[in-house]
Amino acid sequence: MPAVESGPMPVFTMKPASKGKPPTHLADLTLDARKKAMKEAGLPAFRADQLSRHYFERHEATADAMSDLPAGKREEIVDSFLPPLLTKVRDLRADQGKTIKSLWRMFDGAMVETVLMRYPGRATLCISSQAGCGMACPFCATGQGGLTRNLSTGEIVEQVRMGMVAAESGDLAGGPTHVSNIVFMGMGEPLANWRQVQAALHRMIEPSPSGLGISARGVTVSTVGMVPLIDKLADEGLPVTLAVSLHAPDDGLRDPLIPLNSRFNVKKLLDSARRYFEKTGRRVSIEYALIKDMNDHQWRAQLLADELNARGRGWVHVNPIPLNPTPGSIWTASLPETQQVFVDTLEASGIPTTIRDTRGSDIDGACGQLAAEVKGNSARAQKAAAAAERVMAAINNGEEHEADE
Ligand code: SF4
Repeated sequence: MPAVESGPMPVFTMKPASKGKPPTHLADLTLDARKKAMKEAGLPAFRADQLSRHYFERHEATADAMSDLPAGKREEIVDSFLPPLLTKVRDLRADQGKTIKSLWRMFDGAMVETVLMRYPGRATLCISSQAGCGMACPFCATGQGGLTRNLSTGEIVEQVRMGMVAAESGDLAGGPTHVSNIVFMGMGEPLANWRQVQAALHRMIEPSPSGLGISARGVTVSTVGMVPLIDKLADEGLPVTLAVSLHAPDDGLRDPLIPLNSRFNVKKLLDSARRYFEKTGRRVSIEYALIKDMNDHQWRAQLLADELNARGRGWVHVNPIPLNPTPGSIWTASLPETQQVFVDTLEASGIPTTIRDTRGSDIDGACGQLAAEVKGNSARAQKAAAAAERVMAAINNGEEHEADE
């Protein structure tokens, strides 16, 4: 039976499917599923197209902007299909207003952060895939708090839309601009929330009315090394950039730095990164936080270059990152001269290398610092310091690291 627009709208089904889950949102659904949901709500399927164009093309989510929807049902449609998922708690600004870190509260009180950064000719948004993170990397503030929960597809996409609205309305110093780059380098390990991240990638990249129409080349997914899911991402047919947070080229150091390394070691990880390049043609980024006297040795730069070159030429790029120390932690940034030797060693071996920008580090907005001050700051700082000491002891004693679950 065709949907009709007269009479009261039936009780709409896009509500929390079960306890503890955020309300279902337009961005959770494929375009076909939106049409089906619209029909179930007693509305013609083409309303899904109209609503989707408002949301994905014009980044609108309020009824008063949607004059093409029937006046008597506008509010009801928006309330049902676009329930608020993120409430802004506060903005922090840095870099003369060219960086904005935003803290968002979700329906259950869980918090996430985004960082919007202006560069010449573009804006980049760093988003979160999980509230907290279960990977327990000892140098990372987010990792000290553990995983609160996975974000829904809608919650991930809504971070992007909100960032786009902020950029387009001129929130960043320098006037209105557009978000062209999205990086999954906020809270969480994106590939540990694979299904929601996978759907969110489609919603970001597919053109309107299906999605936001962002170029896949402008989207970066980072991982600490979930090898089977790197292969899944490669199979997805979306040529996004893969960023591997490596931080050490040898298992002896990477085991204590990244607990997941005990399951997927450096060789397995670099092999999967190479497979990603072969499947997608996209050059892989290797992220390497330089930590004073821990992983910044010249011999480690040479080992990294050798491991990368052993898998071919021209497939990879290294981004050394000056470390942002977490509050209370003993992790310290490398000296500038040590950093330079590290970069020179990689470049002398033919590895393209660029020191990564650490925008927002003065507001705890650089990756690896998100959530440092949301709550339990001092407890997290103490945990970070204790974890750092355990890592140092493991390295000094040459012990085998065991995952610190
Ligand atoms: S570094 Fe990344 S993967 Fe590791 S704990 Fe922090 S957010 Fe999680």
